[in-house]
Amino acid sequence: MTGTQVEATEQAMMTAHGLTKRFGNLTAVSNVDLELRSSSITALIGPNGAGKSTVVNLLSGLLLPSAGEIRYAGGSVRGMHPYELAHLGVLRTFQTPRLCPGLSAAETVTLGLQAHDRNSWARALFHTPGLHKKEDERRAEALAVLEEIDVEGVDVEVTALAVGTQRLVELARALVGGPTVLLLDEPGAGLDPSESAALAALLRKIAASGPAVLLIEHDMSVVMSVADRVVVLDHGAVIATGTPAEVSRNEAVIEAYLGPQES
Ligand code: ADP
Ligand code: MG
Repeated sequence: MTGTQVEATEQAMMTAHGLTKRFGNLTAVSNVDLELRSSSITALIGPNGAGKSTVVNLLSGLLLPSAGEIRYAGGSVRGMHPYELAHLGVLRTFQTPRLCPGLSAAETVTLGLQAHDRNSWARALFHTPGLHKKEDERRAEALAVLEEIDVEGVDVEVTALAVGTQRLVELARALVGGPTVLLLDEPGAGLDPSESAALAALLRKIAASGPAVLLIEHDMSVVMSVADRVVVLDHGAVIATGTPAEVSRNEAVIEAYLGPQES
């Protein structure tokens, strides 16, 4: 793809400018600028405690910024509640899954469909039928998405599933909501290498269908294989931005991950 084609198909869906979050004396996120473009994957990486999850909590409306601006499709969404952002298609998964106990995976995703019963890109992508009102048709669509994501045990109570699988159920729930911005907090944690490779391929397919994806991921091989751009956080601040190849040879990034190297 040429540069001009990329510019024509990718547009900034969500941007953050000067994003800052303080918890008492701790500045968890400090003056962060971020641009999430449609049809592309931005990886957010950094050591534990760098502020990655806090960025996702700010962008999804779970936390109010101490300072800074968040825009969606050009308009300010600062101060919007998570459900209002979800209605715009700003959907997320959690590092520690937040699923409703007592429901199966199939029921969880079916409910997600009910909450966002509009023309979902997931229908186009997975070739599932069009707009429905009937419960059994919703369930069929939920099952199709769960199958595409390789979730087994769709009738098992969600909290009884392995944590890695619970994250995939959250991903399925977000996908059926028709995401325009998809915020994924370590979706690959707890997956084995073959599951992780399947997730990487799925993320490319998802991004190609339109949403702007923010991916928090520790495995650099996954980041290298799926990310269009990488933003590196350390102690709440952006220390590098660039292509995966650029950031992986950045001195500040190497130091943040490995500590100062003796020569
Ligand atoms: P990461 O996801 O990169 O590991 P987090 O965003 O979870 O980092 O945390 C960044 C810093 O903010 C950490 O020092 C963490 O302890 C702190 N922190 C996160 N959430 C809260 C909170 N709700 N209250 C107080 N401190 C918090
Ligand atoms: Mg985190």
